[in-house]
Amino acid sequence: MPDYDYDLFVIGVGSGGVRAARMSAQYGARVATAEDRYMGGTCVNVGCIPKKLFVYAAHFAEEYHHAEGFGWGPAAPAFDWQVLLKNKNKEIKRLNGIYQGLLDQAGVTHFDGRARIVDPHHVSVNEQLVSTGKILIATGSWPSVPDFPGCEHVITSNEAFFLQTLPKRSLVVGGGYIGVEFAGIFKGLGVDSHLSYRGSLFLRNFDQDVRQAVRDELHKKGVQLHFNSLVEKIKKHGDDDLIVHFADGSQMETDLVLYATGRHPSVNDIGLENVDVACRSNGAIIVDDEFRTSESSIFALGDVIDKIQLTPVAIAEAMVFASTQFNDEPRLMDYDGIATAVFCQPNIGTVGLTQAQAEESYEEIEVFRSTFRPMKHTLSGSDEKSLMKIIVDKATDKIVGVHMVGSEAGEIIQGIAIAYKAGVTKAIFDSTIGIHPTAAEEFVTMLKPVS
Ligand code: NDP
Repeated sequence: MPDYDYDLFVIGVGSGGVRAARMSAQYGARVATAEDRYMGGTCVNVGCIPKKLFVYAAHFAEEYHHAEGFGWGPAAPAFDWQVLLKNKNKEIKRLNGIYQGLLDQAGVTHFDGRARIVDPHHVSVNEQLVSTGKILIATGSWPSVPDFPGCEHVITSNEAFFLQTLPKRSLVVGGGYIGVEFAGIFKGLGVDSHLSYRGSLFLRNFDQDVRQAVRDELHKKGVQLHFNSLVEKIKKHGDDDLIVHFADGSQMETDLVLYATGRHPSVNDIGLENVDVACRSNGAIIVDDEFRTSESSIFALGDVIDKIQLTPVAIAEAMVFASTQFNDEPRLMDYDGIATAVFCQPNIGTVGLTQAQAEESYEEIEVFRSTFRPMKHTLSGSDEKSLMKIIVDKATDKIVGVHMVGSEAGEIIQGIAIAYKAGVTKAIFDSTIGIHPTAAEEFVTMLKPVS
C-alpha cells in the first residue's frame, strides 16, 4: 500500500464535504479538506440558513398585522434592511466558526485555498502537492443564468444575500424553490414583488393542488405572478432602473432582477481534465452506488452529482460514503421518501409521490384532501388557506404521498415523513388521535376520499 500524505482529500467544505471529512476521520482515516470560498458551503452562506432567516424577517410584516385582530396595536413597524443584514452576517460568521471547529475537533487538516486534482492520487493546493489514497469531490453547485441580451444586469441568490440596499421593486425569474421563496421574501419586506415563470404554472415537480394553492396564496399576499412569461432582454436605464422586455412585447421597469433558474454542478477549475472522471452533459459527475467516479480513487457526492440538490441529501450521502470507505460497513443511499419543504409563504411540505405520479404507479389510488382556514386566521382577518392532501394506494392502504401548504408545513411534514418511511397505512393515520386544536390534526381526521 503506497504511503500517501492522507487517506482522503475532500475538495469543498459544504454540507456534504464537512460531514464526509468528519465521519471519515472519526473512522480513523487521515483526512484533509480544501476550500477557497466559505466554510459551510452554499447552505450556510448563501442558501438554506440565510434564506430561512430572511423568511422569518419577511413573515413579521404580516404577523404585526395579524396581531391587531388579537387586540394588539395598531402597530406601525419600520423595517431596517441593514439591521437584518448585519445580524444575518454575524450569525453566518458564527456558523462558519462552528464548521471550522468541527473539522478541527475531528483532526482534519484544512487548507484554505483552491484544490486542483493533478492525478488520481495527487491534489495541488496553495502550490503544495499533496498525495492521497482517495479524493472526494464535494464542490456543490452554482446558480445558472441563461445567456441573453442584458443578462449582465441580473443577480442570483448568491448576491441577494448581500444587497447594499433593499430594492423598491423586484422581479424574480424562475418558478422553482428559490424563485417562490425570494418572491415571498421581497414581498414580505415591503418590495413591489413580481415573479416571472416561463410555463403556465410554477413548481413543476410538485403536486398540482399544491402548485395551485401556492399560486392562490402568493397572489393574495400581493406577489404579482406572471405566467407564460419569457424575458427577452434587459436594458439599463439611467443609473438604477432596469427595463425588462418580455417576448410578448410587454415591458417592466424594476430595480432588481433575480434569476433563480436552477443550479449547475461546480466542476470548473478543479483539475478534472487531468483524470478520467466521466460527467453528464451538464457537468454532473457520474458516480456508482458507492459514489465512486469512473476514476477508481475519486469519489463525488452532493450537488456536484446533481441527483437531489438538498443539504440533508448531501449529508446522508456523505455518511454512506464514509461508512463504506472507512468503516468497513458498506451502505447504500436510500433516496426513497425524501421529504422537502419550500419556504414560500405559506410553506410547502411534501413527502412521497404527487397525485399524478401515484396515478402512474398504482392501479387505484384514493386521495384525501382538506382545505381550511387555520384557526389563527379566524381572528387575524387573514384569508390565508391551508391545504393538506394524502394519497393512498387502495390495494395496500399504504400512504404513498403527503402534501401540505400552510404555516409550518415543513415542521409538520418532517414528522409525517418518519411514518411514511415506516410504511404507514391510512388505517394507522385514522387510528391516531389528533392533537386539538392544531392544524396538523387534520391529517388524522380526513375520513372520506375525494371522488
Ligand atoms: P429549480 O430547479 O427548483 O427551479 C428552476 C426554475 O427556473 C424552474 O421554474 C424552471 O422552469 C426555470 N428555468 C430553468 N431554466 C430557465 C430558463 N432558461 N429561462 C427561464 N426559466 C428557467 O431551481 P432553483 O434555482 O429554484 O433552486 C435550485 C435547487 O436548489 C432546487 O432544485 C433545490 O433542489 C435547491 N433548493 C432547495 C431549497 C429548499 O430545500 N427549501 C431552497 C432553495 C433551493 P421549468 O420548471 O419550466 O423547468
